[in-house]
Amino acid sequence: MTQHFIVIGNPIAHSKSPEIHTLFAAQTGLKISYQRQYCPDDVASFTAVIEAFFHGGGVGANVTVPFKQMAYECCAARGGLSEHAKIAGAVNTLLLNNALLKNGTPIAEAIYGDNTDGQGLVNHITSLNWPLKDARVAIIGAGGAARGVILPLIEAGISELTLANRTLSKVTDLVNELSAASETIANQQIKTCSTEALSGAFDIIINATSIGLSGDTLPLNDALSCGYAYDMMYGRALPFLQHFAKRGAQTSDGYGMLIGQAALSFERWTGHKVDVAQVIDSL
Ligand code: NDP
Repeated sequence: MTQHFIVIGNPIAHSKSPEIHTLFAAQTGLKISYQRQYCPDDVASFTAVIEAFFHGGGVGANVTVPFKQMAYECCAARGGLSEHAKIAGAVNTLLLNNALLKNGTPIAEAIYGDNTDGQGLVNHITSLNWPLKDARVAIIGAGGAARGVILPLIEAGISELTLANRTLSKVTDLVNELSAASETIANQQIKTCSTEALSGAFDIIINATSIGLSGDTLPLNDALSCGYAYDMMYGRALPFLQHFAKRGAQTSDGYGMLIGQAALSFERWTGHKVDVAQVIDSL
């Protein structure tokens, strides 16, 4: 039987998710249909789309820009949220909460939200054989992407975490908020600073800003160095990676994170694990 999936976004034509999930299905021998779903940018349209999808027998949906926070609010009021979605404040994966369905909860009230973005990054870094256990890590950025990777990185066993951002208050507010929401995060010492003040030697520095979209460059301190530099952006030359590659660091863009988060959604929906490296190679 064909299992149905969608990715909801606005715009959505550029999404690579259908290709990625089709390769997962080929790998696992499952019969799936995975479609792009455009949605007007308002709550009424978004809830109508997800309710119609799950009422029609849909198994799972991915949520992309600009709906991740809206999906979080919808699931918080309906079928619930995973721990990672709660901390991220955003949902990228929708499914039905089977425990609620068994209790007779209507489908529309059983829509559940997870967030696989952060674990997708951790899995990609692990697959690159970059050391995460006891690593000194710096993240630049304080938006949704940075927020979603903090808990998975701490769970992966890093030893030190520094968060830097252009607007310093955003990063200090973020640490206060997440420390209040999660004991694991509260138990981790997290330093904060402005991007230009970020200095010293780190094992891994992660660019979680959207600066790559503009072609501008981050004001990086001369006294900042790392063994490994990761940029969550992908699909273009990234000055952040060029900067550290010139200084001898190993580098990666965020394409593997994209595939990694998709693989975790697929596993959540179907129970099947996929070989992410094989899919990165084929794409
Ligand atoms: P947000 O809009 O939520 O946050 C943007 C962040 O970038 C803020 O910290 C902002 O700083 C900073 N920023 C933006 N422009 C500049 C600039 N010119 N100079 C310095 N800092 C700047 O974006 P997201 O967190 O959702 O996404 C961040 C990036 O991560 C995007 O490029 C996105 O494509 C990528 N991403 C990749 C994924 C993947 O699977 N590979 C998954 C999710 C995201 P300030 O607070 O000062 O405004």
